[in-house]
Amino acid sequence: MNNVEALNLTNPFVESMKRYDKIYWRNPDFGEKADLNFTQAEIFDAAARWDRFAPYLAEVFPETAKQNGMIESPLLEINDMKHQMEAEFESKIDGRLLLKADSLMPISGSIKSRGGIYEVLKFAETVAMREGDLVYSDDYRVLATPRYHKIFSHYGIAVGSTGNLGLSIGITAATFGFKTTVHMSADARQWKKDKLRDKGVNVVEYDDSFTVAITKGRKIAAKEINTYFIDDEKSRDLFLGYAVAGIRLQKQLKDLGITPSVSHPVFVYLPAGVGGSPSGVSFGLSQIMPEGIYPVFVEPTHVPSVTLGMITGLNSNIAVNDIGLDGKTEADGLAVQRPSQIAGEVMKTLLYASHTFDDEEIYQYLVMLKDSASLWVEPSAAAGFTAILPTIQQLDHPEFLKNATHIVWATGGSMVPEKEMQEYYQHGLKLFK
Ligand SMILES: *Cc1c(COP(=O)(O)O)cnc(C)c1O
Repeated sequence: MNNVEALNLTNPFVESMKRYDKIYWRNPDFGEKADLNFTQAEIFDAAARWDRFAPYLAEVFPETAKQNGMIESPLLEINDMKHQMEAEFESKIDGRLLLKADSLMPISGSIKSRGGIYEVLKFAETVAMREGDLVYSDDYRVLATPRYHKIFSHYGIAVGSTGNLGLSIGITAATFGFKTTVHMSADARQWKKDKLRDKGVNVVEYDDSFTVAITKGRKIAAKEINTYFIDDEKSRDLFLGYAVAGIRLQKQLKDLGITPSVSHPVFVYLPAGVGGSPSGVSFGLSQIMPEGIYPVFVEPTHVPSVTLGMITGLNSNIAVNDIGLDGKTEADGLAVQRPSQIAGEVMKTLLYASHTFDDEEIYQYLVMLKDSASLWVEPSAAAGFTAILPTIQQLDHPEFLKNATHIVWATGGSMVPEKEMQEYYQHGLKLFK
């Protein structure tokens, strides 16, 4: 099937999407057996690499020292938020409501610290072993010495980004001493560009979409010698960096007395842009906990790129503008018209459902989360909340709901400047009746 045929699809979900209507799509292939093209061993390999770098990270990013250089976020129970939602929507929410607060991730204040930093570490390790004399069991703090800084300065790292990936990669790569370039799409916030320039990163601005910024960035990097392009549309390393979350969350769930199973389902609500972070996290969770994990992707009605790719089976061969959508959203990181080449394929049997939301909703949840739990997240990071009630309403086994856990993956926020956060909050307040 080609794009033109997809345009003529009579699929009722695609018809709704063309009208910017909200949809809730249950993936018919969820739970089928499949060859996923990634393995559990690769997740453990990535986790071991994070561990090797932990002493280095604790040294160069002192904010990570109290966790011994581990880059991880807390898993928080948000009961008052649950009660506030129940009151607001006059609907009972059975089960526990948790927030995976990636808004508090060190270095970038977003989920991008998982994939983006990981890929920089992997590249730095490769260069350090080839050009220096690093071996696996060394104390990696040696990489913070002038000798290695000089070695890294002969190499470049480049990336295309809507903002947060650029932050995580830019800050980390510049810290190692790499010549670092971030190609930013038009929707990227000014404060993110300023922060990167402060760190000595070369920020190239495009008055165009993410798809254009990444395509141009990739071409430019290919012409430069010794420049490594971190490719959000197809990188395996980014994906594996995200997948390590599976190992980390398993322990955090255990500490809360939660063992996922069919009768104790864990629903994980993940906002999707290009689809890399939610698919990497979902893959990690379902490899480490093979039963009871139900990933639900959430996307703006104006940019349902991963959902469109999966429903049509065209994955990265279709973009939301192919069905006439404008691709615009206030949700940072989600304004991505075409999905990654990895997401749809890996998620074919792992995705439980997909939901689309209107931008206004996420500002309301941002307000409710602040009021009930004193937690600040950026608008896109509140998107997961929009999918909870639709998920509950469409369950096959409502009898298990009382044992359920709902995890909203709050993908970013702690680095948003106070003034902008206040504006988001004020905007959200106005939307309540
Ligand atoms: C990047 C991002 C996402 C989505 O991740 P993708 O890998 O693009 O799907 C969600 N929320 C925030 C805050 C992000 O920065």
